[in-house]
Amino acid sequence: MSLIIALSKGRILKDTLPLLAEAGIELLEDPDKSRKLIFPTTQEGVQIVILRATDVPTFVQNGAADIGVAGKDVLVEHGADGMYELVDLQIARCRLMVAGKVGAAKPARRLRVATKFVNVAKRYYAEQGRQVEIIKLYGSMELAPIMDLADRIVDVVDTGKTLKENGLEALELIMPVSSRLIVNKTAMKLKQARIQPLVDQLQAAVTRREVAHAGDLRRPRRDDAGPWLRRLANEERHDGDATLQQPGCRLRSHAGSIAGLGRRVGCGRAGHGQRGHRPRSPRWRCRCRRLHQSL
Ligand code: AMP
Repeated sequence: MSLIIALSKGRILKDTLPLLAEAGIELLEDPDKSRKLIFPTTQEGVQIVILRATDVPTFVQNGAADIGVAGKDVLVEHGADGMYELVDLQIARCRLMVAGKVGAAKPARRLRVATKFVNVAKRYYAEQGRQVEIIKLYGSMELAPIMDLADRIVDVVDTGKTLKENGLEALELIMPVSSRLIVNKTAMKLKQARIQPLVDQLQAAVTRREVAHAGDLRRPRRDDAGPWLRRLANEERHDGDATLQQPGCRLRSHAGSIAGLGRRVGCGRAGHGQRGHRPRSPRWRCRCRRLHQSL
C-alpha cells in the first residue's frame, strides 16, 4: 500500500524530517541537492512530495497526497474540508498578527489591510464588526505600510525582527500557529492500517518532546526564580491561548502557581493533588508529574 506525504520546503520540511525519522521514515536523497519534487524514503512505498506551503492542503484535500504537514495559518485560510487535522506537531511555531507602522495613528477612513491571508483577515475584522479594505499580496507584506499601499498587514510573526527592521510593530494577535498533520478522509478509511500507526508514532514523538521539555524546567530557588519565570512567561506569550486549548501543560497555570513559589502546580482541573483526582488526560498526567518532580 503506497503512501504519499506532502511537505513544504523551508521550516516545515526541516522540522518535520526529524519527527518522521522517529517514525522510521527518512529521505533517501537530500532535497537541497536535488531538483526532484518526489522523493523515495527508507520505508517501501512511502514517498515525500515537496510543495509550496499553500498547496499542501489542496493536494491532501483532493487525495493527490494521503498525508501532509501544513501550518495552522494555511489550514485556516484554506479551509479543512475533506481532511482530518490529527496531530499538532508543535513545530514551525509563530503567530498570525496584525502589524502596522510604529506609532501610526488609525486613519479616519476605512482601514486598508494587506495580506495573503485574505479569508482569515476578512473573518477577523468581520467578527469585530470592523469594516476594512483587504488588499491581496503574495509576499513582502512589510512593504505595504512603508509604501503607503496599506495601513496594516496581517502576516505570520516569529521573533518580530523583520517587522522591527522595517519600522513596523505587531499590534494584535489573531492566532498562534504551529504545523499540523493532516490526512485525506478517504485515505484514512482505505489506508488506515498504514496511516494510523504513523499518526500514533508521530503523536508519540511529539509527546516525548513535550515531556522532555517539561523535564527541562528546573525547580527555581527563590533567588534565581526570575529568569525561570521569564522563560515560562515567554512561552506563554509565544503560545497565546493555544496552550489552554491543548491537552498538554498549561504553562499559564504553572507560571501562576510557581509565582507563589512552594505551592504545588496543578493540571488545571479542580481537586488536583487530592485522592482520586483524575487529570485531564494521560498527557496531562505525565507532563504534570514531571513538573511536580522537578519542582
Ligand atoms: P513559508 O514557506 O515561509 O510561507 O512558511 C510556511 C509555513 O511555515 C507558514 O505557513 C507558517 O505556518 C510557518 N512559518 C512561516 N513563517 C514562520 C516563522 N517566521 N516562524 C515559524 N514558522 C513560520
